[in-house]
Amino acid sequence: MVNLKKNFVLFLGIKENKVWKEDMKKLSVDIPILTYHRLTKYRVSDKYTTSINEFAEHMEYLQYNNYQTISLCDYIRHISEPFFDIPEKSCLLTFDDGHQSDFQFALPILARHNFKATFFITTDWIGKQGYMIPEQLRELATTFGMSVQCHGKRHIPLKGLSLDNLLQELVVSKRTLEDLMGAEIYYMSFPGGSFNKDVLTCVRDARYRAVMCSIPFYLHQIDGLFVVGRHMIKYVGKSNFNACLKVDYAAHIRAYFMSVLKKNFKIIVGNKMYYFLWKIYTKKIP
Ligand SMILES: [Zn+2]
Repeated sequence: MVNLKKNFVLFLGIKENKVWKEDMKKLSVDIPILTYHRLTKYRVSDKYTTSINEFAEHMEYLQYNNYQTISLCDYIRHISEPFFDIPEKSCLLTFDDGHQSDFQFALPILARHNFKATFFITTDWIGKQGYMIPEQLRELATTFGMSVQCHGKRHIPLKGLSLDNLLQELVVSKRTLEDLMGAEIYYMSFPGGSFNKDVLTCVRDARYRAVMCSIPFYLHQIDGLFVVGRHMIKYVGKSNFNACLKVDYAAHIRAYFMSVLKKNFKIIVGNKMYYFLWKIYTKKIP
């Protein structure tokens, strides 16, 4: 029998927020961080896919409006060191999952504008059909000056995982990438965006400096770990792209309520069912 009272309390997001919200220190930030996934020649129904033309238009918009890309490392230094300056119109570009299309199509466009980006890689997908191979990941860093960081091992939500499974996702994937890149990995982005205090504690213990979630302009610090929000680019279109670059407080409130809804829907239906439905909804591959 479903416990309606318990689920209702969970639905309002009361219980879980109380547990750890006070541990999080909120920081103010207005630097946009954009996240792309797969690029395709033509627009497809997958909401996380961007057409090459649309991506090229976004980059042209950034250049025309005098935006300069900065690295995640400089972003962290800017928010943690009082005198570390960055360009007035700074932004960050990130790519999740390690799609082959990011190397094939996005990279030449980024190079044309002299833009830098961070590529978050799911280590179990390296070399699989449609995903980058080790040589391409190394080339991203050595030839093009891009940053390659971690997006977990199997691309599964981290919240609710056993400690063993969390270690696989946080530590094994980090070591795999470090061996492959020959450099220490400091940053990760959450697959599916889900996290809680236990996950953040493990992320910090795994020696990450910052972790990326999917709430635009979100920035908190907990026990020395930065939790940084990004804007997921999905079918924004040319006219709406500039909205992704500005702090939209109404969108913040909407995003907050959506995150409460999603979080508690996940608790009610269970992680597995939520992730199954999420994959159908986003038509995510694989
Ligand atoms: Zn992903």
